[in-house]
Amino acid sequence: MTQASLSEFEIIRDNHHDILSRIDSAAKDASINNGGNLNPKPKLVAVSKVQSLPRVQAALDIGQSIFGENRVQEAQQRWGVDFVDHRASIELRLIGPLQSNKAEDAVALFDVIETLDREKLFKALVKAADKTGRRPRLYIQVNTGEEPQKSGLAPHELAAFVTKMRKEYEWEPEGLMCIPPQGEAASAHFWLLSNLAKANGIKQLSMGMSADYEIAVKMGASSVRIGSALFGVRGK
Ligand SMILES: *Cc1c(COP(=O)(O)O)cnc(C)c1O
Repeated sequence: MTQASLSEFEIIRDNHHDILSRIDSAAKDASINNGGNLNPKPKLVAVSKVQSLPRVQAALDIGQSIFGENRVQEAQQRWGVDFVDHRASIELRLIGPLQSNKAEDAVALFDVIETLDREKLFKALVKAADKTGRRPRLYIQVNTGEEPQKSGLAPHELAAFVTKMRKEYEWEPEGLMCIPPQGEAASAHFWLLSNLAKANGIKQLSMGMSADYEIAVKMGASSVRIGSALFGVRGK
């Protein structure tokens, strides 16, 4: 039942191979801008939200080991029930908005939370971490396009937020994450995120999705979040 048809398996395997080789060549371009030093290989986060179990099984079978989900409840079902046997051998990342009242569930389930975007949520995560003894790695989401409907700190709010995390809570953010506005060149947003990271001494950059991950890698992404280019269109 959780077996992908051979052709679907083959498609996902070929997509996976293709994406990894594109990441590789883009990373070589990135190294040109970095004095010839190759950055650590950018990681592929397979965005499994809404994808069928056979598709996710196919990704597991070909050795994909980092997955991204955007809803806590869906992720609990998938990685706490359906694929619970695989949970210990993969890394699980939350890439969707998190409500403070779900912080404890998120801390219990995820290795990485990429969508820290406000102080109230951070306080809830601190409390959940104290309670559970788990400290997920955190990425701060930056609303690089300052879009009113999008979550994320405004760029000018970042420095004070990072200082607070470090000084008051001794919790070092692992990285920054952004989702560029639709219909704008993503590169300007990746460039901004990369500069904000440098200015704040933050090393990892989660940026780039199916449509623009090669650009993101060229601009220094340390991880890209890819759903449809790997698994196919969601909900099909
Ligand atoms: C869904 C989603 C992705 C993956 O999108 P694709 O275009 O299918 O690659 C990446 N990042 C976030 C935050 C998402 O919600």
